[in-house]
Amino acid sequence: MNYISTRGQAPKLKFADVLLAGLASDGGLYVPETLPTFSKEEIASWAGLSYAELAFKVIKPFVDDCIGEADLKRMIDETYAGFNHSAVAPLKELGTNEWVLELFHGPTLAFKDFALQLLGRLMDHVLAERGERLVILGATSGDTGSAAIEGCRHSDHLDIFILHPYQRVSDVQRRQMTSILEDNVFNIALEGNFDDCQQMVKDSFADQGFLKGLKLGAVNSINWARIMAQIVYYFSASLAVGGPHRPVSFSVPTGNFGDIFAGYLAKQMGLPIEQLVVATNRNDILHRVISGNDMSKGDLVHTLSPSMDIMVSSNFERLLFDVYGRDGAAIDDLMARFKTESVQLDPAQWEQVRELFDSYAVNDDTTCEVIKDVHAETGYLLDPHTAIGVKAARECWRDKSVPMITLATAHPVKFPEPVVKAGLESPQLPAHMADLFEREERYEVLANDLSQVQEFVASHVHRD
Ligand SMILES: *Cc1c(COP(=O)(O)O)cnc(C)c1O
Repeated sequence: MNYISTRGQAPKLKFADVLLAGLASDGGLYVPETLPTFSKEEIASWAGLSYAELAFKVIKPFVDDCIGEADLKRMIDETYAGFNHSAVAPLKELGTNEWVLELFHGPTLAFKDFALQLLGRLMDHVLAERGERLVILGATSGDTGSAAIEGCRHSDHLDIFILHPYQRVSDVQRRQMTSILEDNVFNIALEGNFDDCQQMVKDSFADQGFLKGLKLGAVNSINWARIMAQIVYYFSASLAVGGPHRPVSFSVPTGNFGDIFAGYLAKQMGLPIEQLVVATNRNDILHRVISGNDMSKGDLVHTLSPSMDIMVSSNFERLLFDVYGRDGAAIDDLMARFKTESVQLDPAQWEQVRELFDSYAVNDDTTCEVIKDVHAETGYLLDPHTAIGVKAARECWRDKSVPMITLATAHPVKFPEPVVKAGLESPQLPAHMADLFEREERYEVLANDLSQVQEFVASHVHRD
């Protein structure tokens, strides 16, 4: 299988190179040249499989012959054996045909573990075969950093550097990162905000000379392999509630459009999906595009669902590439204009987007109300991101005979503030993390200065 860039100018690559590359050289994102598709009969025949067995079926065509079958299977098995629930991604019923898909049973209690636990293993495997090393550099406002560090800590061929804004991530989130003490893991607390962190990562990718020959790899959701791993749980959830012979709908708390894009791909691959609901907080660019054809950057607002606080949803470009008939030049033009002005999609393209997605935006007050109401109705405690998903699901659900599944993207213990605001007791850390606040921490506080950060990275990478 070949991968092509959404801007049409970068060379076609195979999976292993896309895995290590991140962004394409023309500034675009890599997507498969053609999608594998499965018949209903074939999907139905997977009903008895374990999560790892199902993941192998879905992932294998994307990896193609870049990794041997036995190795791929082993890495997938190891990845999901590390989750703390036998079903890996269990469903919980909130009401008639209303479900949440719990994606927080991985090591860092958020759905990002599904992809990053696998990504670290895949990268390490490819690097070992090539006798190369790679430097992972990423910025985080919380969840991505801890999941990426957990995914890379055991890799022999990777060093990972994660920038977080000093004193601006929650204690649980910081400790999940800084208590990892392997010598290939480096946490940098930057004296700046999240945007400063992100800008440093971007500038460093654009000019990698400071690494003196080593290369940078990406772990954010521009990396295709992350999207790929997330397609799997749409299949597992559908099969668990009577699919594929019965359609299901999904509501997805969305920031960078990565997770919901995986759902769109599952549908293109043959899984019968009735509705895909994009659920956002007040950073609602996606809701504004889908509902009103207004693709403009708003001001970033800090909300009680910080993992969705984002002005620009990078992965939306992957969808636009499809609705614009895979015309790279059109996407290049659109994205160039979007840098400096607000843009509208062409009417026919906007119509396609509206047919594919419903959307709804939820503010902080409503988020707390939903947490409170759902707890009162069912005894179930939602994290704020998931609460936004549940609210959007209820608002957008057209046919109540079709199961509606909201993706529960994080465990409520990671975000206690809205839970307490809702008048509920703050949840307990799960057993495997009970000692988090006693663990030793290690991180470096650095000034908001690109050359200092780059010097720190260059002098700490392993070069053998
Ligand atoms: C990252 C994250 C999201 C948003 O996912 P995207 O793929 O960026 O849309 C939602 N909820 C939680 C808890 C997250 O960590």
